[in-house]
Amino acid sequence: MCEICEKVRTRDFFPTPKAYLECLNYIQSLVDSGSFLFESKDCDTDRVKDINGDWIDDVISHVIKCKNCGQCFTCTVITYRGSGSFRKGK
Ligand SMILES: [Zn+2]
Repeated sequence: MCEICEKVRTRDFFPTPKAYLECLNYIQSLVDSGSFLFESKDCDTDRVKDINGDWIDDVISHVIKCKNCGQCFTCTVITYRGSGSFRKGK
């Protein structure tokens, strides 16, 4: 963990689907800032829903990695259960 990672706002759960979408926007902004890169992603952050407004999959994951220290953060959502989190680690 470095001083950049310490500022990352993780989430233990998403109270609403909107909270998840906001977290994806946040993750994208971290990558856009140049400090993080995508270690892996199931889809682009603005493509988690298909053209009909349905989730693209039962489980959707995005992993970002700090360019400075290598720390990973994982955002996973289980769409059919409505649970998920954004946490430190892979
Ligand atoms: Zn870091």
